[in-house]
Amino acid sequence: MPAPVTFRFDNSYARELPGFYVRWQPAAVPSPQLLFFNRELADELGLDAAALDGPEGAAVFAGNTVPEGAEPLAQAYAGHQFGGFSPQLGDGRALLLGEVIDRQGRRRDIAFKGSGRTPFSRGGDGKAAIGPMLREVLIGEAMHALGIPTTRALAVAATGEAVYRERPLPGAVLTRVAASHLRVGTFQFFAARNDLERLRQLADYAIARHDPDLAGTPDRYLALLRRVAERQAALIAQWMNVGFIHGVMNTDNMTISGETIDYGPCAFMEAFDPQAVFSSIDHGGRYAWGNQPLIARWNLARLAETLLPLIAEDDGEPAAARAVAHATEVIDAYPAWYAAALLEGQRAKLGLASAATGDEEADRALAEDWLKLLHGHGIDFTLAWRRLADAAEGNEQPLRALFDAPQDPDAWLARWRARCEAEDGASPAGGERAARMRRVNPWVIPRNHRVEEALAAATEDEDLEPFERLLAALRRPWEEVPGHERYAEPAPAALTAGYQTFCGT
Ligand code: AMP
Ligand code: MG
Repeated sequence: MPAPVTFRFDNSYARELPGFYVRWQPAAVPSPQLLFFNRELADELGLDAAALDGPEGAAVFAGNTVPEGAEPLAQAYAGHQFGGFSPQLGDGRALLLGEVIDRQGRRRDIAFKGSGRTPFSRGGDGKAAIGPMLREVLIGEAMHALGIPTTRALAVAATGEAVYRERPLPGAVLTRVAASHLRVGTFQFFAARNDLERLRQLADYAIARHDPDLAGTPDRYLALLRRVAERQAALIAQWMNVGFIHGVMNTDNMTISGETIDYGPCAFMEAFDPQAVFSSIDHGGRYAWGNQPLIARWNLARLAETLLPLIAEDDGEPAAARAVAHATEVIDAYPAWYAAALLEGQRAKLGLASAATGDEEADRALAEDWLKLLHGHGIDFTLAWRRLADAAEGNEQPLRALFDAPQDPDAWLARWRARCEAEDGASPAGGERAARMRRVNPWVIPRNHRVEEALAAATEDEDLEPFERLLAALRRPWEEVPGHERYAEPAPAALTAGYQTFCGT
């Protein structure tokens, strides 16, 4: 018998927050098989990657062997889904195994998704199919490589069992690593029950975990709201600047940590269109690309509501009115934080090194007009930015070739060049600018047709090679790696027009 795999768990959630979860065990599955194992992440977590990357790991990551020190539990949370409030959602097909302190000293959650029914499952089967779980791997690893805060996949294990959706599909369990699984919806769960004591416990726990410098300070709950809003402003700006559409920005899918979570019906934009939406269940386009900043603010207002009684206690009399005013200040400040983060990202994407030489409004207009140009001509968002880097080196042809008529971008390019020259003064910085732009404008993103192709091969033919090749390309988004060309190609327009993503439940 090999020595049991050790995780060195330290489970603060289980220890400090009784009453916030139900202890529960993962369901046993017939035939665990490791489909994906993230060695780099395992190393980061201080795990024995060699021991886990085999049958022993398969048993652990399918839920059959609960590692020593794990205290599996289903977390309680509520949430607004498409604007309607559900006072009880919770981990219906997920379990928190526990927490580990990684090599850099950061506390990370290790959680299962698809590990069977829990007391929060309602009508659901608690299971997951391999397609959506491998999808979470691809998109999460792509986001990570793009430098966007995200939960990450540690492993996917096939269960050897069918899950029944429209048709039987091979089942799988995903192991996910997160800074925490605290959500706006976690706060809503206790606020909806008027459980002020637990709300305070939760807020103090969140502060200890994500904003320890605020612990014990007098205005800490208001400060927590501000921190969450700042993190979300930065996060959503990053999403917007890579054309990411989350697809289901319900309050239970918005983290306190500022990490992207729950890759369900998400997708990356192809031809630029602010109304782009791919999710089969998003009929009204609530979570379209262009709505994401507004939705984030709406979700933050829901978080603010839950914190009002705690903020009021800090504020003294007449508490309630003052708490509302203070929380509202944060919610009202959010759009400017978001706009600043967006512009910072756009300036970098435009190759502008210094804010000092550019007027803020003029730079904002330059970026907006670029996007209007792309929208008006139906240009691929990712390729357009990338080819603008070529233009910075004087090679405008690849960019012009994206348009019906090569002179279409003339007027805008002239403005952009003038702005660059204003920054450069006498010494043109074309090559250096292009290099900088290629470090912020990806060549490879998880394009929908490539993702679907990889998942279909894995699901229909048990062929993981397309998945592995795509994953390798997504992990090097900035480099024009020979052999990765097919991952940089836009999907045929007809395919994108009919493309729909599903929640994978
Ligand atoms: P999601 O859309 O994945 O964020 O999930 C929303 C809620 O539905 C959460 O409470 C999930 O735990 C629950 N849920 C989603 N899929 C299932 C499933 N197959 N079985 C049980 N609960 C589920
Ligand atoms: Mg969710």
